[in-house]
Amino acid sequence: MKLIFLGPQGSGKSTQAGIVASQNNIPQIEMGQILRDKALEEDEEAQLVRDCLSKGELVPNHITINALDERLKRPDCQNGYLLDGFPRNQEQLGAIKDKIDRVFYVKIPDEVAIERLTKRGRHDDTKEILKKRLEIYHNQTEPLLSHFKSLGILEEVNGQNTIEEVAMEIKERLKNVQ
Ligand code: AMP
Repeated sequence: MKLIFLGPQGSGKSTQAGIVASQNNIPQIEMGQILRDKALEEDEEAQLVRDCLSKGELVPNHITINALDERLKRPDCQNGYLLDGFPRNQEQLGAIKDKIDRVFYVKIPDEVAIERLTKRGRHDDTKEILKKRLEIYHNQTEPLLSHFKSLGILEEVNGQNTIEEVAMEIKERLKNVQ
């Protein structure tokens, strides 16, 4: 089973992605976390990644796509995987070569996202940076949804419901997916 989880920051997408991945025994490939790990290295690329993360900007595509390709080569991805936070723009969309079974879009209004995230307190969660990340989300990531919709694989869920409700709904919609 190959799945994608998209949604603005604060929608609960990674929480849901974690639940679905463990229920289906597939790895959750959390792009933000892979890049945060990369930022801890000591080469020039790591410095660039650190700058992007701290400004709330997307990390350059070649770095992100390479990091994902490396991750997908690992043996735990053989029976499927869940991409959490990838693709976030057109070029990344074009880098996906596998057939994706379903794309879950966890939807939430910006005000709710900002309120939730300022409570979370991660260092890239200040109000200004969050606004920038939401803007990038609306401009670059949201337009990708129509592509998945036209393939008939887009599933939209309401991120304002409780964690349990959203998880149940996703489980229901995955019933007929192998
Ligand atoms: P997230 O944990 O998904 O909110 O991502 C945190 C940060 O990681 C983002 O603000 C970006 O700087 C970076 N990031 C995550 N996913 C991607 C991606 N697919 N492409 C580029 N940058 C990304």
